[in-house]
Amino acid sequence: MSATYTHQVLLYYKYVPIEDPETFAAEHLEKCKELGLKGRILVGQEGINGTCSGTIEATNAYMEMMRADERFADIVFKVDEANGHAFKKMHVRPRKEIVHFGLEEDINPNELTGNYLEPKEFFEALQSEDTVVIDARNDYEFDLGHFRGAVRPDIKTFRDLPEWIRDNKEMFQGKKILTYCTGGIRCEKFSGWLKREGFEDVNQLHGGIVMYGKDPQVQGQLWDGSLYVFDERISVPVNRVEHVVVGKDHFTGESCERYVNCANPECNEKIICSEENEKLYMRSCSDECRVHPRNRYIIEHKMTEEEVQERLAEIERVRSAQTV
Ligand SMILES: [Zn+2]
Repeated sequence: MSATYTHQVLLYYKYVPIEDPETFAAEHLEKCKELGLKGRILVGQEGINGTCSGTIEATNAYMEMMRADERFADIVFKVDEANGHAFKKMHVRPRKEIVHFGLEEDINPNELTGNYLEPKEFFEALQSEDTVVIDARNDYEFDLGHFRGAVRPDIKTFRDLPEWIRDNKEMFQGKKILTYCTGGIRCEKFSGWLKREGFEDVNQLHGGIVMYGKDPQVQGQLWDGSLYVFDERISVPVNRVEHVVVGKDHFTGESCERYVNCANPECNEKIICSEENEKLYMRSCSDECRVHPRNRYIIEHKMTEEEVQERLAEIERVRSAQTV
């Protein structure tokens, strides 16, 4: 059975000097709009980092246009099949950094970066004894899926990673270090930074988790859970051989892979929960968030004060039943 699809989602980056990111971004936006693409592209003097969706024809034309520019002639596009756009709007924004790492002294991955491991090499290295695997993504990405045995840095954003590594460096000293991220862009800098910090055997997954999942030999093996993606799909599969759910419902701890944002606009924390628990807990991560005056769940569902009180009482009933 061959699947039919109408759209493609592209993910790509390239560290290459772009002289005038503002002008480039403005012109690039026009071209993307002409093609009818939607997505988010960051442009800096250090390069380009993008993800966008469009019809097969439009995305193919975009890839062709990019490769015709000698700066991007060898850019690698990760292409996912889709049935519709994965974004609502088209943004091309100039940025100081194309991934926010915030180092005082920046890393140029073209000068300093870890060894690239292809999926097959990474798969083999994962299984050797002296290896330590570091997930270079955020905690909520890890919680939905990760390589079996990987270290979960306790960080909210990528820029907190260097400090976390320094605080925990005894875990990594003398080991073969493997790093991975979604498409590879974060590891380019992170692995270079690890080398500058004095770690010797530093290796990064070339093409990231996305290419690992597409590799015909490896087929995503040793990946557990799903891959968090920064578009409307929220998550995509990786392991084509077995699917092990690692996500846990925020409220009950049951296996779950469904992400929502906390309804308190000031919190907005990503929480994994079932549809049923989203309703019961009014999509709020905590008691405080649940009664926030601007709680979006309450507003969206036009809940009256009485209904809110009834729901809170229901939560109490469920809780006391659980503790018995
Ligand atoms: Zn919250």
